[in-house]
Amino acid sequence: MKTIEKCPKCGGEMEEGMIRADPVSGPINIWWVPPNVGFLSNQGERIGFGFTRVEFKGFRCPKCRIVIFSYGKEEEETTEK
Ligand SMILES: [Zn+2]
Repeated sequence: MKTIEKCPKCGGEMEEGMIRADPVSGPINIWWVPPNVGFLSNQGERIGFGFTRVEFKGFRCPKCRIVIFSYGKEEEETTEK
């Protein structure tokens, strides 16, 4: 993943980390959904799935509460060029 050092909103320093999602019971799906899509719609792209945990590497600005994260396998991203 390309290193993002500056927040796109305030220009401040970004912290490296990850988004972690833990299921309470059963597997977990993470979806990217376009705006103005109803709660019951199944539109969107599944960007994460796991039986025990889903993680996305990324960077956050704690001041603006913005998170920039990558999804999918990094090996696939680098070989697609
Ligand atoms: Zn910021």
